[in-house]
Amino acid sequence: MVFDFKEPVSLIIIEDEKVSAELLGHEVERSSLSVLRTAYAESLDAALDHLNEEKFDVMLLDLNLPDSEGLQTLIRVQHDYPDVAKVVITGEYDEELGLEALACGAEDYLVKGKFDVYVLSKSIAYAIERKRMAREQDSLIEELLKVNDELEDFAYIVSHDLKAPLRGITSLSEWLQADYGQKLDEAGREKICLLKKRVQRMHELIDAILQYSRIGRTENQQKLTNLNNVVSDAVDAVAAPENISVTVENEMPCIECDPTRIGQVFQNLIANAVKYMDKEKGWVKIKCESVEEYWKFSVGDNGCGIEQKDLNRIFQLFQRGSSNEEPGSTGIGLTLVKKIVELYGGRVSVDSRPAQGSTFFFTLPKQKSEVLSDAKF
Ligand code: ADP
Repeated sequence: MVFDFKEPVSLIIIEDEKVSAELLGHEVERSSLSVLRTAYAESLDAALDHLNEEKFDVMLLDLNLPDSEGLQTLIRVQHDYPDVAKVVITGEYDEELGLEALACGAEDYLVKGKFDVYVLSKSIAYAIERKRMAREQDSLIEELLKVNDELEDFAYIVSHDLKAPLRGITSLSEWLQADYGQKLDEAGREKICLLKKRVQRMHELIDAILQYSRIGRTENQQKLTNLNNVVSDAVDAVAAPENISVTVENEMPCIECDPTRIGQVFQNLIANAVKYMDKEKGWVKIKCESVEEYWKFSVGDNGCGIEQKDLNRIFQLFQRGSSNEEPGSTGIGLTLVKKIVELYGGRVSVDSRPAQGSTFFFTLPKQKSEVLSDAKF
């Protein structure tokens, strides 16, 4: 919605110099805005009293008041009245302060003596519109987070409940096999085996959904973590066979993260490198390099590689390489890797040549990485 100049506006002018305040009020009256009410306050305390009593759409705010100085004035009103749009009025030589005010939550700033009625009315309209858009955006994000929560709960509950009938089918097929196996011919016995395999596959897929939905449900255990230990634990957990050498090529950094989650990322990538190894002498190389404000990690192998057409698909839930016949492969590992890395504000990518090998890359921000959605992790 674009601001309609006919829309009635109520505003408060917070300015300690009486003449300046009256001049501003006069300019507002002359502007193309439809002013419903203009209130005046000469100090921060008086302004807070007004704001407490009535609802204003916008405030014109001088930062230097008898009872409050500079950005502190803005920070205080922003904290107590975040929903009121704010246009800061700075002194003639204080343009820099205006820019800082924008960073502290003001919608716009005007430099005293450097604006006319036209600029003033546009600035007020723009501030109100921006505030409205920010409010809409906040409520959309809130809704999105709620829907996401519900979806995760849904995935968890559904997959949990699906396991009960599945357990029943497993018992029945075992019972059929034990009690009637001898009465069936070879084809009948084969069909029961096939049935059991399909049920097992269904179990694995449900486990995969549970695992995926758990990422958003378990508590975030952020702490300063030495990734050398995390990687070494992941290598041990994978326990590669003797024909595959797994080496860490350089020193890993210490970062602020949840070691279990980042451990899962390494473990999935190393496990895949081992699982899809088709060479007699296999290698898996784990590396890390510093790229601007990110750490860039990689897990490379000389395994079977991935066909070009599969490269984008494999990060999606339940998607496996088209020629992948690996038993127990569910297509969840890389989806988990992607979800965890992106929650940390990083990216995943892959470089691969069929028959030659693959390298999976992922980045993590260097700065004390705040997890994007703390509550969700
Ligand atoms: P899963 O291994 O259970 O199938 P993933 O999500 O971990 O699930 O991997 C998706 C697909 O990507 C795999 O089915 C496989 O085809 C391919 N893939 C993953 N890692 C590698 C690798 N290191 N080498 C070759 N193919 C791989």
